[in-house]
Amino acid sequence: APRLRVAPSPTGDPHVGTAYMSLFNLAFARQQGGRFVLRIEDTDRARFREDSEQQVFDTLHWLGLQWDEGPDVGGDYAPYRQSERLDTYRPYVERLLAEGKAYHCWCSTERLATMREIQQKSKQPTGYDRLCHGKTREERAQLPGFSETPVVRMLVPEDVELQFEDLIRGRVSAPRPDDQVILKADGFPTYHLAVVVDDHEMGITHVVRGEEWISSTPKHILLYRWLGLEPPKWAHMPLLRNTDKSKISKRKNPAARLTWFREEGYLPEALVNFLALLAYPPKEGESGEDVEVFTFEEFSADFDWRKVNPVGPIFDLKKLEWLNGVHIRQLPVEELASRLLPYLERAGVLPAEPSLGQLARLAKVTELIQTRMALLTEAAALVGPFYVGDDEVGVADDARAQLKDDAGAVLAAAVEALSGVDDSRGGVLGDESGWNAPAIEAALRSAIVEGMGIKPKFAFGPLRTAVSGQRISPPLFESMQILGKTSTLARLTRLRD
Ligand code: ATP
Ligand code: GLU
Ligand code: MG
Repeated sequence: APRLRVAPSPTGDPHVGTAYMSLFNLAFARQQGGRFVLRIEDTDRARFREDSEQQVFDTLHWLGLQWDEGPDVGGDYAPYRQSERLDTYRPYVERLLAEGKAYHCWCSTERLATMREIQQKSKQPTGYDRLCHGKTREERAQLPGFSETPVVRMLVPEDVELQFEDLIRGRVSAPRPDDQVILKADGFPTYHLAVVVDDHEMGITHVVRGEEWISSTPKHILLYRWLGLEPPKWAHMPLLRNTDKSKISKRKNPAARLTWFREEGYLPEALVNFLALLAYPPKEGESGEDVEVFTFEEFSADFDWRKVNPVGPIFDLKKLEWLNGVHIRQLPVEELASRLLPYLERAGVLPAEPSLGQLARLAKVTELIQTRMALLTEAAALVGPFYVGDDEVGVADDARAQLKDDAGAVLAAAVEALSGVDDSRGGVLGDESGWNAPAIEAALRSAIVEGMGIKPKFAFGPLRTAVSGQRISPPLFESMQILGKTSTLARLTRLRD
């Protein structure tokens, strides 16, 4: 069975690219009954960030992109952190050195920088000039730009293979590499050596990664050949682009950080759906129509590499917002209510552990607002008024603007009309009598629209302001039903006077 992996480097907030690569790896692995491995590529000690690995776990868990083997869950090929595998890489380096396929290089970073600058100025191809090749330490020490601790470089031959088959792109050509470093001065392998050794040792059959690695693949193919190992199959995913075609990056786009999506109130289901659609066509519906809304399982079921579009897709957040609204509407109300809890807590609407009464009310309110949200963060303003004291309803400026002209008279009429509605029976939605939305609406219409001749728009605006403090709120009569008679009358009276 196939084995796939995602191999993020813990260099900061997880990149949305890590989720995107995980999604396509996992879709194929699940469809094939294969395994999905999470490997932490922490060989770059300069960019290493302590909390980054945990954030990778958390964000991928949040997205439901679960791995079968990894540093936290273990597996037959542990350890899954490259920093814990240094002994694994050493024999490979020794062997390449012994066979003359690699050599020590003592050139200082200053020398390499100067060399590069000169090459660039004179428009020569940049690359290592092999000054150290064939020299002993003593011979090299005689020359300028010597550094005490050497690195190890690959001796890339003239006839290095530059073409390979890609599952998405077909036959691909990459530029000729120079003599790549495979072991750094700090004793850590570089990405190129570690990725080849680990993909081999971990039995990886398919390497699915970003297209920026196409130019590295000839280096990897060469290492596989030298070491007598069977190479995996490759699929290079298109990178996500801004509308100006530049690649999205954490330095420029907040939306390149995975944590951002959670903070902004996107559902993981929507983000997964969105990432899938970026490089993959919609599904085909019963009568041949495009189906853009689907689950991970549906995506995975008939996944096919040949359908992946190699052209860098535009990262269109408007589309994501639309999908988010669709997925919000598809959640069962109870589920949506529980997804809202962390956002309501963060906004100070509810405590971390709400009471049963608060939760029961939330379920009712959630039903009212489910169709009115594109982002979970929007819930706080809609839900907030249901959890404040009647004399603490904050009135927004644009809502206050509804309180002119006849507002006082309208509020007075509403108080009088609603005082007559019997609330001895519980408010059951759809119940014809008692304190419920239809009865409330009927009483208000008859008193204000018919009785006073005021158009509904002007009749209900002031009531909405009094009840919710917002110009846009959940449906008014249902809101009054949930608040109950006492609360509703208190709020209307407060603004009437
Ligand atoms: P930056 O985005 O600023 O370069 P970074 O250097 O932390 O941030 P990288 O190491 O370049 O991030 O990328 C992390 C992972 O995300 C890699 O696996 C890479 O393939 C992937 N990635 C980076 N940019 C994109 C992109 N535009 N689209 C898809 N995947 C990307
Ligand atoms: N550590 C690399 C990255 O972060 C992995 C690339 C690969 O999948 O080979 O992108
Ligand atoms: Mg980068």
